[in-house]
Amino acid sequence: MTASVTEAAKANSELDPAAGKITLKATAGKGTMRAGQWDPVRSPYGVEEIDRSHAGPQEQKKVVIREVSIPEAGPGQFLVKIASASLCHSDIISIEANNTATLGHEGAGYIEKMHASVEDKGFNVGDPIGFLYIIGCCFECEGCMIHNLHCVTGKQLLQGFTTDGFFAEYAVVDYQNAMKLPESIDIKTASPIFCAGITAFHAVDNAELKEGDWMAVVGAGGLGQQATQIAKAMGFKVVALDVNDATLEVCKKQGADAVFNSMSNKDYVEELKKLTSGGVKAACVFSNADAVSLRNSAHTVRQLLIKNQAYAGVPSILRLGGVMMVIGLPHNPLKISSMDLALGKYKVKSESTSIPQRMKKAVEFLAKHNIKPEVQQRKLDDLNDMVTEMREGKATKRMLVNF
Ligand SMILES: [Zn+2]
Ligand SMILES: [Zn+2]
Repeated sequence: MTASVTEAAKANSELDPAAGKITLKATAGKGTMRAGQWDPVRSPYGVEEIDRSHAGPQEQKKVVIREVSIPEAGPGQFLVKIASASLCHSDIISIEANNTATLGHEGAGYIEKMHASVEDKGFNVGDPIGFLYIIGCCFECEGCMIHNLHCVTGKQLLQGFTTDGFFAEYAVVDYQNAMKLPESIDIKTASPIFCAGITAFHAVDNAELKEGDWMAVVGAGGLGQQATQIAKAMGFKVVALDVNDATLEVCKKQGADAVFNSMSNKDYVEELKKLTSGGVKAACVFSNADAVSLRNSAHTVRQLLIKNQAYAGVPSILRLGGVMMVIGLPHNPLKISSMDLALGKYKVKSESTSIPQRMKKAVEFLAKHNIKPEVQQRKLDDLNDMVTEMREGKATKRMLVNF
């Protein structure tokens, strides 16, 4: 899960008084396709009036695969035949908001058709492309230069949240969001790059590190594992922290110089400081707002506490003047000492998937260094199971659907 999507979901619900409902449908083209959508109304009484005497609402709500119209590329758009679409923690936010749009904001596929207005934009029918997921914005205004959710037009929509996303055989894509995939990237496993991969790259790339510096990966899940590979490829030394030995082991395999279990090893701060001669220059915190996806599991509260502690523990492992890179978004605001900031003890920065103008650098780096997430390839019919596995915290790899 990444910052941008969580923010986007929030921003869209603020922008849109009818949040929780689909706000825009692309024009229907010819023919139909299969699409994975959250169905909040599994009862004849409707979602607000579910008869709770028979079953809890969660049992009645699920992801369904619907036969829907193939969309038509509007001005500035491609129609894309999806090759891979992956599930991200942020998708759970869309589900919890009872959005009914086609799910999914991580996608890659082939250009099937182009609107006449984009025929001179350097793309061709049949091109393999990856793409970002905020559409309808102008991509040029002052707001769009910071994040497309700030577009002055107010027309921005989030695919997979407030408009149809990528868990479908076809999707429309704004051409400004798209880039041709480098040849070495397999389109069947490319989708996670266009959220998780790009975010991990921006985090490491902007942590103000020089070759040989120590960087901490806090939270050794999917993003942390990719950040480890990216940091090693940039010549940094990596120490990974997590409460889960299995994910730490993966980080080690992917090149981490040292790993610490911050829960079972009471002396980890001391040991880390000794190892790094005084602390890390930067700490990228990927521990995130799993709050939503873990809400139903028995150990939610304990895990949440641990995850929030991830941020609280960062100042103690940073060397003087180091950078805390905020990527994962816990449910509650961070507690940061203004005195620490004023005295220059450390500084705080943040990154996300960001804007499409920045994605090429990230994707080309990942391609050049053959940095790939661990994925599990599934079918569209598995989407409800995938969502359940993610909500229960059982997913160990990025789960993606191949079409
Ligand atoms: Zn994502
Ligand atoms: Zn704009």
